[in-house]
This record gives sequence, C-alpha cells and structure tokens, in this order.
Amino acid sequence: MLENLPSQLEKYLPPPVLALVKIAGREASELGLGLYIIGGVVRDLFLGRANFDFDLVVEGDAIKLAQKMARDSQAKLTVHSRFGTAKINYPGFSLDLATARSETYSKPGALPTVKPGDLKDDLIRRDFSINAMAMRLNPQRFGELIDLYHSKDDLEHRLIRILHPNSFIDDATRILRAIRYEQRLGFTLEAETEKLLRRDVTMLDTISGDRIRHELELILKEDKPELVLWRAGELGVLRQLHPSLKGNGWLSQRFEQARQSYKQTSLPSLYLCLLIHNLTDKENEEFISRLNFPKNSAQAMRHTLQLKAQLHSLANPQLKPSDIYQSLHSYTATAIQANALASESPIASQHLQLYLTKLRYVKTLVSGEDLKKMGIPAGPRIGEILNTLHKARLNGEIKTRKEEEKFAHTWRKAPIPITTRSKIKSQRSK
Ligand code: ATP
Ligand code: MG
Repeated sequence: MLENLPSQLEKYLPPPVLALVKIAGREASELGLGLYIIGGVVRDLFLGRANFDFDLVVEGDAIKLAQKMARDSQAKLTVHSRFGTAKINYPGFSLDLATARSETYSKPGALPTVKPGDLKDDLIRRDFSINAMAMRLNPQRFGELIDLYHSKDDLEHRLIRILHPNSFIDDATRILRAIRYEQRLGFTLEAETEKLLRRDVTMLDTISGDRIRHELELILKEDKPELVLWRAGELGVLRQLHPSLKGNGWLSQRFEQARQSYKQTSLPSLYLCLLIHNLTDKENEEFISRLNFPKNSAQAMRHTLQLKAQLHSLANPQLKPSDIYQSLHSYTATAIQANALASESPIASQHLQLYLTKLRYVKTLVSGEDLKKMGIPAGPRIGEILNTLHKARLNGEIKTRKEEEKFAHTWRKAPIPITTRSKIKSQRSK
C-alpha cells in the first residue's frame, strides 16, 4: 500500500490537473473551507487504476469556492444551488464540487433528504467503505488521508463492505453497485455484507425502473459484464429484476464472442439483447416496462425476439442474397448481431453476418431522379425499377452504373422481370 500519499497524488494526477487541484486547495483555505478529493478517485489511486472522474467535497459552501476558482481562471461554471453543487469546465477537463452533506432516507428506496453536513456525514452516506475515503487538498496537510471506516484495510483485504446494516434497505441500487465493484476489481463481498445483501434483495422492488436501468447500464459498460451478471444470478439479484433472467455460461460465451466481433461502443446494447434472448415475448414486455427502457432499446429487444422466431427460414442454404436482404432489412442491426451470436444454425449465422458486413450497405448507383431524367415518368414504376435494380445488384447480377442504366432503360416500358439470373442474362445478350 502507498505510504507517501502526497507524492503518490503528484505522480498519479496529470500535471495540469495537479496544478488546478493545488490552486483549489489554496483558494479553499483563503475562504476558510476544507477541501477534499473523495470517492472513486481515492480508491483507484490506491489500486493504481486510472480514474479522472473527480469528485471534490467542500466543508462549507462549495458554490462560493467554485465561483472564486472560475473567476480566477475564467473557466465556465455551472451551478446547482438547490444541491449546493457546481461544475467548473476547463478546456478538456472538469471538476465537480459538492457541499459536504448528510443524507437520511424517509423510506426504503426514496430519494434521500439532504442537509449540509461535515466531512464525516459526507463519508457515512456513501455506498461502500472502499468508496468512503477522502484526501485533503488544502495546503496545510495536503494529501492527508481521512479513513474513518477502515477503508484502507478493506482495500488491502479486497473486500466490499457496506457502512451500516440498513444500507441496502435505504438504497437497494447499492445491491447492484456492490456486485459491479466486486467483479470489476476482483474483490469479494465481506461476509456480513453478503448476508445482508441476500436478506435485502427484495428491496430492489422499492427502486424505480429508471434507477435500476441506470445501474444495469453501468454494469453493461464494464469490461466483463458477464461476471457481474453471473454473480447477480447466483445471489438471486437477477431474478428480482425479472424471474426469467439468467446469467449463465451460455451468456458468458456470447459476451466474449461479442467483444471479439463488434466495436466497443455497440457492446452495451448488444449485451442487453443477448441478456433477454431467452425470454418469451411476454416476459420481455414485462422487463421492458419494469425498467422503463426507452424506445430505441425496447425496439432492439423486441426485434431480437421477433428475428429469433423467424430464424429457421434463414437456415436455408439456397437463399439468395436478395432473399436475405428482404428478410432482414427491417430489423435493427443490434437485433441481427445478437441473433448472429446466439443462433444454433451455422448457416443462419452466416447469412446474418453476410447481411451485416455486406448486404446492408448495397445501394443502387442510379437514383429516382436519374430515372426521371431518363424519361421514366414519376410514379410507382420508378420504385419498382429501383427495387429490381437493387435486387439484381445484391445478387451480383449487375455491377456497374452503365449496366443499371441499360436495364432501367429496357424496363422503361416493358414489364419488369422478376430478377433471375436467366432473365438478366438474356437481356444482357441482346
Ligand atoms: P466508478 O465511477 O469508477 O464506478 P465512483 O466511485 O466514481 O466509481 P460514482 O458512481 O461516480 O462512482 O459515484 C461517486 C461516489 O458517490 C462513489 O464513490 C460513492 O462514494 C458515492 N455513491 C454513488 N452512488 C451511491 C449510492 N447509491 N449510495 C451511496 N453512495 C453512492
Ligand atoms: Mg465515478
């Protein structure tokens, strides 16, 4: 464990940030305020993990300090007076300042009642001991660690521990947070914490859909969400979100494959579609409404199950590219990706992949406008011709713009052929 904290802090923070933090400490002292860096950054400093999501806590008026800092550096300031918080935006970096506060819960799952408090109050309101350390930034005793809840011990023993026995009852989102940190850091739930988590798992029912969804989204942004979901399954947490959700080995393998096949930014929504892949339509609807998923996510989830139900028709090796396009073009890409990973049929998977990597990008080179210029009157015929050209292009029967124009021209008056290789060929040879 780190011994000389001020010098560690100096090594850990990028120089411009360190300079800012020191200025902030000096200015706080000038105003007679205590200033601390708190929460995840302190935890990650000890663990040697990068984290520049800075939370500063002020004993006293955070807004007054933020105003002074912003004025002196001409940075942009956003203030929330009701919460006693402020954000200072420097080029490429921002600092969040909050007035130290105490929180009490009127009933399980309610948002807390907030009052200004001291640093001790602000630490005890936190979720876990490892997130409840502060480091002083005032020049007197710069870098001093404030560790009131054995946080450093728990970090050393790699334990996730709540700070009081009612913690999960007050705020059951901590149940999801506990598992997320445990699996992210390779820690273990401290024995009493695990016992209370199992006891209080039904308290998740007191949390609004939006707040549960937010925690699930955070889980799905982790490097290996399958570990969190697996543990959530084991502890009876997933079941509480919906009785049919499972965090099993099947899911883990698909998540791993998803990371190998798709880009990072598309992973969270893909993971979500894999998570619901074993639900029935009815169960999926229940889950969507419990977590109040927004339109886009709900659509991807529904499409996943609709496509799964239709997948047998894509397992036919005789399908032409235009048939595959026809079956898939109205589905969101995430639903197709999820089924490509989940399908038991290698042929169906190949067809889904072909669509994702090639077919969905195939476009005709001539446009409706071009066809009008060629003398084809505006009307449904233009659409039909474009459609037929598109099919021929998908099937590799037409390759160049010249060919498109030629066929459009022949089809101007004559009936449009159903695209078959022989028809196209016979016209080509004319
Ligand atoms: P990370 O962002 O790396 O997941 P973090 O510790 O920065 O970790 P945030 O979600 O950014 O986590 O929250 C900042 C701090 O606020 C936490 O360290 C924790 O002390 C506190 N906190 C967040 N959510 C809760 C909660 N539900 N109950 C109590 N304290 C919380
Ligand atoms: Mg954070």
